[in-house]
Amino acid sequence: MIKKAVFLTSNSDYTKCPPPDKPEFAFIGRSNVGKSSLINMLTNHKGLAKTSQKPGKTQLINHFHIDDKWYMVDLPGYGFAVASKAMKATWEKMIRNYLTKRENLAAIFVLIDSRLEPQKIDLEFIIWCGENGIPFVLVFTKADKKGIEKSTANARVFLDRAIEIFGEEPQYFITSAEKKEGREELSAFIEGEVRE
Ligand code: GDP
Repeated sequence: MIKKAVFLTSNSDYTKCPPPDKPEFAFIGRSNVGKSSLINMLTNHKGLAKTSQKPGKTQLINHFHIDDKWYMVDLPGYGFAVASKAMKATWEKMIRNYLTKRENLAAIFVLIDSRLEPQKIDLEFIIWCGENGIPFVLVFTKADKKGIEKSTANARVFLDRAIEIFGEEPQYFITSAEKKEGREELSAFIEGEVRE
């Protein structure tokens, strides 16, 4: 489990991020998917990632130093309805550069709202990750909201779509920040990767 989490920097340019001297794990997902809540649950730190940020405002690549061993990165969410075309283009360029060029990126956690049927934008994003060789892990969020059975069923439909696309099942976790579920599993996964 994470013991220490320290905010380092916010950047729009991946070249200005902290030196790539430790493994790095990034978190991304549709706006309102529960990313801040998940990060705060993982780090056991209520206000570390800011919840309910106003969608559409300037958004940056946020670095946190975890247990002096690895970097956690909070990436701005995608898919907010009010964003202009220009904002979407800026987001895409920043994220594309970061994800394809950040040399110490070990994996990206792609958050998926477990209340919903598979969303086109999420599928498109993981397809893009696959095409660009970016290792991704799916994290289904808010598993408490509609009950674990409905969440697991939605996750299953999403996973089956992913199997159709990739020919294999992606690694995944089912979580609830509200109920603190999935924290140990996700922490253990990251610790395993950091140790390698
Ligand atoms: P972000 O925009 O992706 O950072 O999402 P937030 O973490 O701000 O969460 C968006 C909304 O979903 C907030 O109202 C949270 O309280 C709620 N939320 C996030 N995670 C959970 C969860 O695991 N269970 C429930 N019931 N609500 C959640």
